[in-house]
Amino acid sequence: MNLRQEILLIEDEKNICNFIATTLRAQDYKVSFAHNAANGMSLAASGCPDLILLDLGLPDMDGIDVIHNIREWSSIPIIVISARTQEKEKVEALDAGADDYITKPFGTPELMARIRTALRRSSLNGGVPASDQDRYTAKGLVIDYGKHIITVDGNIVHFTQIEYKILTFLARNSGKVITYDTLITHVWGPYADSNNRILRVNMANIRRKLEHNSADPQYIFTEIGIGYRMIDNENL
Ligand code: CA
Repeated sequence: MNLRQEILLIEDEKNICNFIATTLRAQDYKVSFAHNAANGMSLAASGCPDLILLDLGLPDMDGIDVIHNIREWSSIPIIVISARTQEKEKVEALDAGADDYITKPFGTPELMARIRTALRRSSLNGGVPASDQDRYTAKGLVIDYGKHIITVDGNIVHFTQIEYKILTFLARNSGKVITYDTLITHVWGPYADSNNRILRVNMANIRRKLEHNSADPQYIFTEIGIGYRMIDNENL
């Protein structure tokens, strides 16, 4: 692609802002930035960026409200920048419609990987032939959605209906963190008990069937206090 993608950075700490902007420009992204929520939202509307990096702690407005505001009119990917200890905020941000989060301090490769994943996912939503989405493949794991068949290294693995639902939902959202509540609502419906004990039991069974070593998973990762992230689909 020759067209440079534009990233809008909404972050009030100027040194962090400069660091990220320099990093992104070195990777050939176009960067615009705002140091508060009001400017950020107005740039998001006027500039039509391809992705937004959003700090949650802004001087004029709660970052969660910024996400709600932008989500009223746009599905631009939003990656939240948050501090290490803010588990609750990360969950709120994801549930409000953020696509991902990155925890400070983070390295350039991690930031770039998150940005590439979010941009790729958003370009997919623009329309991909159904056949390309009919299959999930990663490290020897293949999910054939059409045939409802899951294989690991060529061997068929059997899952209960609930396990299949959990697994395919994570696979269809691979690379993205899915919060416990989102997953529970998807599998058991909006009135389900938000206690995640049953989810944990099912996840333990899924891992036992899927992973070579459940203690060191290679397909489904736990984001402690937040949810699960499935490894990227190699097909996309
Ligand atoms: Ca801040």
